[in-house]
Amino acid sequence: MRLKLYVTGVVQGVGFRPFVYRLATELGLKGYVLNSETGVVIEVEGEKERLEEFLKRLQSEKPPASQIFSIDKKFLEEVGYSGFEIRKSEKKGEVKVAVLPDLSTCKECLSELFDPENRRYRYPFINCTNCGPRFTIILSLPYDRPNTTMKDFEMCEKCREEYENPLDRRFHAQPNACPVCGPHVWLVNGEGETVAERDKALKVLVEWLKEGKILAVKGLGGFHLICDATNEEAVAELRRRKRRQEKPFAVMFKDLEQVREFAEVSPLEEIALTSVESPIVILKQKEGNNLAPSVSPDTKTVGAFLPYMPLHHIILRGFGKPIVATSCNVTDEPIMFKNSEVKNVLGNLVDGALLHNREIARRCDDSVVKVMGGRVVPFRRSRGYAPLPVLLPFKLKRPVLALGPHMKVTVALGKGNRVYISQHIGDIDNLKAEEFFKETVKDLLNLFEIEPEVVVSDYHLGYFTTKFGREVFGERLIQVYHHHAHTISVMAENEVPLDKKVIAFSFDGTGYGTDGKIWGSEVLIAGYTEFERALHLKYFPLPGGDRAVKEPYRVAVSLLKAVGEKPEDYLKVEPEKLSFVSQMVDKGINSPLTSSMGRLFDGVSALLGIRYTVNYHAQGAILLEEISSTSKETGSYPFKMESGEIDWRETLLAVLSDIKKGAPLSDVGMKFHNTVVKMVLESARILREKTGIDTVALSGGVFQNKILTEKCLRELPSKGFKVLVHQVVPPNDGGLSLGQAVYGGLI
Ligand code: ZN
Ligand code: ZN
Ligand code: FE
Repeated sequence: MRLKLYVTGVVQGVGFRPFVYRLATELGLKGYVLNSETGVVIEVEGEKERLEEFLKRLQSEKPPASQIFSIDKKFLEEVGYSGFEIRKSEKKGEVKVAVLPDLSTCKECLSELFDPENRRYRYPFINCTNCGPRFTIILSLPYDRPNTTMKDFEMCEKCREEYENPLDRRFHAQPNACPVCGPHVWLVNGEGETVAERDKALKVLVEWLKEGKILAVKGLGGFHLICDATNEEAVAELRRRKRRQEKPFAVMFKDLEQVREFAEVSPLEEIALTSVESPIVILKQKEGNNLAPSVSPDTKTVGAFLPYMPLHHIILRGFGKPIVATSCNVTDEPIMFKNSEVKNVLGNLVDGALLHNREIARRCDDSVVKVMGGRVVPFRRSRGYAPLPVLLPFKLKRPVLALGPHMKVTVALGKGNRVYISQHIGDIDNLKAEEFFKETVKDLLNLFEIEPEVVVSDYHLGYFTTKFGREVFGERLIQVYHHHAHTISVMAENEVPLDKKVIAFSFDGTGYGTDGKIWGSEVLIAGYTEFERALHLKYFPLPGGDRAVKEPYRVAVSLLKAVGEKPEDYLKVEPEKLSFVSQMVDKGINSPLTSSMGRLFDGVSALLGIRYTVNYHAQGAILLEEISSTSKETGSYPFKMESGEIDWRETLLAVLSDIKKGAPLSDVGMKFHNTVVKMVLESARILREKTGIDTVALSGGVFQNKILTEKCLRELPSKGFKVLVHQVVPPNDGGLSLGQAVYGGLI
């Protein structure tokens, strides 16, 4: 395989390239290292394990004077380098990265933090040029202290000396501070009274955690809700108060060793956990661990992450046990980031709050990744990544702003060969989310001072983002189809050349199609600026539209009726409900047609009795995947390909017959997964024959399914296909703005 890395940070003129050369040569890897305008580009080829070792040692053994701010990593196909070389840079000049993401606490700061002799002992805001807040404190550019939320803190003499000394680790560290001159924390109770300040506050907070209290803690990009992750009563109470029934909570662990006590950690997962971006990594729980069952009531996974700011380190060391650390918000609203917002929820949502007076310039949620197919796939690209640009292999013709779709929204701003992607905004389903979206658009335009010539939205006229685009940008607005945008995203991050086309599988829950129907299993022959819809799942009615997304038994009813079966024979749902939904399908009342792969997964999940209704997005499909993953089944079900349609009716009949025979759910589930893989293989084969294209691109939320993605990554290459998957932006709608931006910049 080939590993391609874009490294930003202080990596030029500090012996970084010779270090890379030595490391690569020692590991027997081939490729090159090159200085670029944003840092260093590295390509190495060799065995997968060696590449992972390279990635790990690149970070742990880097030259002392160098600093890594981010590493964009992609595993790609080999191109066959003959040796390793330091290439001549195309351009000279200073490395310029306009706005950096927030960086997790570095080793040096961490050891000072717990050194009783150090003047910053247990100071929750310790930082240096290698670590600390960036994106979340910047008010405007250039990045200088007066343009950050640190502007009101005057540095003391000692801090100023460090700041002005070129030999000091804190030379020009804009958020530099100490207990004498910098921000501080305080703790308030449920009545809003301050009970302790500074270090005392941190000690009382730990006592409160031990008592099972639920607390808000102001962090880097917003507030977390925290409590003891091993205390079932506390976690269950948090669910009740947050009105979040089953969606797993993220858990912060003291250190890597502690994560290992609770979950399985592969080498690549370790790299992800300990990376400077410090995302939440979705791991498999170990049997018999003592996490409270309510942390993730319906799955055996855990979203694990490590402390990424000094404040977290102090809390986790003091408490000793893992804590639940989930975004502090009221149902579906954006994460809270102001002290005043949290005052409103004291005494009801939380028993107390740890506040501080370093203002957060903008909200930024934690990022989420999952390792699959030997790659780190982002599920949410936010804190630690935003607002770093995605680098394109070509230049856009014009500056462009992309507004995203409706769910998991990010916005993007493109110019030249860069696309800056915002932090995660989320689903735009309420006024506060709309405000956050509007603020983020404004913010991005201000920060990068790019005036877009075109603005891109989805085709769905019901989306707030589309309406906003029309109202605000009028004539400048152009639209791109949802599944084409997914495809462009995965093409762009995989550096597909401008003139090339791919066979794209764009599988997700919902997207507006050219025929006005709800698409979601689109097989496209696509380039960056045009596509042809070659194949899709046979349409089926979606009784109740969006209601069917929350109540997948409705999908099951629709599927059953399509094959002439009686819903009541398979679904243990109240007869009145079943006949009501049946009638909707029969009479075509509020039952739009869809070709959604996500819904097909939901429907099968319901038929297997896994979920009739869901209480978080894609829950039915996620649980179907988890149950199936225990099966070793290699068989699959039949399906037909006819006149541009993948007909799933034979698949369904075979599923039903297995259910009637009493086959284990896991086996039926795995056979269903295998069938979808077969659908991909067969579609790709047919289309290669027709077009000669042998590159397959996989995008859309359905490819967050690990079984499906890994099997496609194994089987397509064995049939001679090149496979492109996401490693830079999410396969889900969070990655859509990249595709929209590239489209608008090229059309
Ligand atoms: Zn540091
Ligand atoms: Zn100071
Ligand atoms: Fe989508």
